[in-house]
Amino acid sequence: TASEAKETLKPHDNGKDGLSIYIDPVTGQKIPMRDGKPCRTCVDMKTWKRLGKVAAAKTPEQTASTAKESEPKESSNNKAEAIASSANEDKATTPSAEWQRKNCPPDVEALGSSTWTLLHTMAAYYPERPAPSQMDTMKMFFEGFAQHYPCWFCKDDFQKSVAANPIQVGSRKKLSQWLCERHNEVNEKLGKPKFDCSKVFERWLEGPPN
Ligand code: FAD
Repeated sequence: TASEAKETLKPHDNGKDGLSIYIDPVTGQKIPMRDGKPCRTCVDMKTWKRLGKVAAAKTPEQTASTAKESEPKESSNNKAEAIASSANEDKATTPSAEWQRKNCPPDVEALGSSTWTLLHTMAAYYPERPAPSQMDTMKMFFEGFAQHYPCWFCKDDFQKSVAANPIQVGSRKKLSQWLCERHNEVNEKLGKPKFDCSKVFERWLEGPPN
């Protein structure tokens, strides 16, 4: 019903920095929002594009009030058009569409994958016997990282994980294993297979054996 539709669009504001959660009326998925728009670095590109189109036509508040005031059929037609048009764009093969895809700001997956590449590579090249100053700066790096990673719910969970499992900066091996375990926690949360942490140097430093 229209009142149920309004209820699903109600923001669940966490009271921080214009961040909130909306329930996607199409999929029921929880969508992280920043300043009333889907948070690009918190959702995958497909979801972001689809919700962006709906939001561009109407803000979430307008969408909620439209759902209340007008026929539900009209609102679901708008959503269907947005989904269809986003699906058509995904299939586009023109050079300019390809260029746009490659040059877009990252979604949660592209950002995550690039970030893990940097973090695991940093850990793999960290000294086997670090000097005290190197231990300090690595610790500070991760403290800053956990404050500034631009997917806020990823960052919140990472902060909790680091609080429960303090960073191990005593050696290359310790840091790499610690990071591998933190990454595995995210893998587990997302339903992805766990990585075998005994293979962390093969993956990030030495490459596969010949
Ligand atoms: P990725 O998980 O990005 O992994 C890249 C490569 O790392 C893999 O191909 C594999 O070879 C290697 N690898 C995998 N696991 C390990 C491991 N344990 N140790 C060493 N190497 C490994 N996304 C969300 O949707 N929700 C979140 O809450 C979330 N939190 C994140 C927190 C952080 C700190 C970061 C950096 C990213 C987070 N992400 C989150 C993004 C998510 O982890 C993935 O990066 C994203 O889903 C893309 O996954 P992928 O399949 O490309 O592989």
